[in-house]
Amino acid sequence: MIRALVVTKDEETGKTAASVETIEESRLPESEVTVAVDYSTVNYKDGLCIGPGGGLVRNYPHIPGIDFAGTVEASTDARYKPGDKVVLTGWRVGEAHWGGYAQKACVRADWLVPLPAGITTRQAMAVGTAGLTAMLAVMALEDHGLQTGHGPVLVTGAAGGVGSVATAILANLGHEVAAVTGRPETADYLTGLGASRIVPREDFAEVTRKPLESENWAGCVDAVAGVMLGRVLKQMKYGTSVAAVGLAGGAAIDGALITPFILRGVNLLGIDSVMQPYANRLRAWERIARDLPMDRLEAMVQPATLTDLPGLGRDILKGQVRGRVVVDVNA
Ligand code: NDP
Repeated sequence: MIRALVVTKDEETGKTAASVETIEESRLPESEVTVAVDYSTVNYKDGLCIGPGGGLVRNYPHIPGIDFAGTVEASTDARYKPGDKVVLTGWRVGEAHWGGYAQKACVRADWLVPLPAGITTRQAMAVGTAGLTAMLAVMALEDHGLQTGHGPVLVTGAAGGVGSVATAILANLGHEVAAVTGRPETADYLTGLGASRIVPREDFAEVTRKPLESENWAGCVDAVAGVMLGRVLKQMKYGTSVAAVGLAGGAAIDGALITPFILRGVNLLGIDSVMQPYANRLRAWERIARDLPMDRLEAMVQPATLTDLPGLGRDILKGQVRGRVVVDVNA
């Protein structure tokens, strides 16, 4: 028997409900690798899947949890043997396939990555999908020419999961980080992660008719999109890039937005962590082990248990979670 957060749906009313249950292990889907899960996390998508699903969940009853880290218990794939420490992000686990909010998970071998030396399963989930995405965003900016000394790098949604990890990585790499937040009370937290400056969210809140604004930023990791992304693009320095990861502030951007791309050669790089091939995920986890200071990571962590998840799912959808939630599924 294993404990899990199970989401059920009442077919008549269409309402969903999430509760911690003890279920037979035999109910887990058959797959190549069985992992004894140590930790999972709470990402924005988890908030959706704990609640009404938002079109992500395919079948009920459902076990959410889009990422987890743990120890291989059994494997039919030669790449993994019992005792190996592994991490999983993406591949629609926790959406179309039962996920990490359980003491065990059965998944395809291709979806896993061996945990790099020096990272514990708890640290891996303090990073989680949000942190992996932050690393992928930084790597994409570097591939497009980001270097230190060219000016401040902007991080939007900075107090959230992606933003917190991006801030810590960029600062540790020697960049001057300008952290955009709508929560002034997180200023000490963000400077503790290495931000050089806090920029209020309101500075980017208004749509402007100006085609371009003054050139301020040498790069940007954007977790917010919406009106903010439109304003950010108009303020990018010539030939720089924005790595856009999410839509926390809405999907629509300023419709008349073409000038930054033509006159300033700005690149808009879309980052998606879900279908990242194995080699990319491995490279990103190795960079995380090298470039993310683990003491700063610890400052981001909010510990939680399976029973905390329904409330945390609601909080993250309201943009009220600070940093990264680490869920001890065995507590
Ligand atoms: P969080 O909720 O932890 O952080 C989002 C942050 O955005 C909030 O903390 C807040 O930061 C800011 N924010 C929220 N609402 C608004 C708003 N209306 N206007 C302006 N700013 C707002 O989420 P994550 O960091 O985990 O994820 C961020 C986004 O990235 C989500 O849309 C998520 O779905 C997406 N994502 C995409 C991935 C990919 O592979 N592409 C992977 C992981 C996440 P503050 O309080 O500092 O202003």
